[in-house]
Amino acid sequence: MNLLIIGSVAFDSIKTPFESVEGTLGGSATFCSLAASFFTQPGIVAVVGEDFTSGHKKVLTNKNIDLEGLEQAPGKSFAWGGEYSFDLNSRTTLFTNLNVFENFQPKVPENYKKSEYVFLGNIHPLLQKDVLSQTTHTKFVGLDTMNYWIEKALPELKEVLRFVNILIINDSEAREFTHEHNLLKASKKILGIMDLMRQPILIIKRGENGLSMFQGSHIFSLPAYPLEDVADPTGAGDSFAGGFMGYITQTENTNWENLKLACVYGSIMASFSVEKLGTERLQEITQDEITRRFQDFKNLTHFEMNHPAAELLGINCN
Ligand code: AMP
Repeated sequence: MNLLIIGSVAFDSIKTPFESVEGTLGGSATFCSLAASFFTQPGIVAVVGEDFTSGHKKVLTNKNIDLEGLEQAPGKSFAWGGEYSFDLNSRTTLFTNLNVFENFQPKVPENYKKSEYVFLGNIHPLLQKDVLSQTTHTKFVGLDTMNYWIEKALPELKEVLRFVNILIINDSEAREFTHEHNLLKASKKILGIMDLMRQPILIIKRGENGLSMFQGSHIFSLPAYPLEDVADPTGAGDSFAGGFMGYITQTENTNWENLKLACVYGSIMASFSVEKLGTERLQEITQDEITRRFQDFKNLTHFEMNHPAAELLGINCN
């Protein structure tokens, strides 16, 4: 097990204008670990209820995800319901039933305690901090959160952020967090809360409009992978985080250029995730498909200026 992931393992009820599904396997740790499994071996720390069957388990073990840290407790699994509007970008949460998460006290298995790469997926910030405090050798810690926790546990969220290298959130969360509409200003405020000694990084996701990554005075922006058919955006953010952290864990390199590549792999995994309802598409991707999308991304974002044009404009293109 190389990448420790904490988050929710959930049953999701999703309504889009075109399709709907009830009680499908979801949750931040589920999407994240499935996406990361293409790059490294993830291990999950989470809790499920008695309604979590061996079939659900198999979805994760089929991808070699370590489940030693997945506790089964009396009661029902975390359940979440969301409904998307016609543009599939904005969503309303219909319900959040914490169920077994309400009394969850995470126990990091002995084997996971020395993990160097840790992703604190979307869950209560106190649980995120609790897991982190049980680890001893972290090199690179990522964190995701949600408006739900920004509204319900802001002081706890700010506290855990001090121990994190990278925060991955979406644009509306960044705005709500900082009360700043402008994302550049928001990014400065958020990086200011994080520990400067860690050279903190912030990624702000903008759904189908791509993302921006900030570290010190560096900014990098990437479009989303262009897709004709989007079935269900649920879990796109967690799949991004899984691809990103999986790639960083595999390459063990957190320099700025490699962080950009991690953004590309994160975006590729998010693009697959949204093509079918729930985790369906993540379960069937092949390495060849990932490689093809990487090449597409390269072509999509590459540009060069030829010498005559540069001379005309007085630009040094070397
Ligand atoms: P995303 O679309 O990336 O924001 O992630 C959606 C996933 O997050 C769904 O599978 C939900 O089960 C899970 N989720 C929704 N709300 C919460 C919450 N408050 N805490 C933890 N996980 C959540």
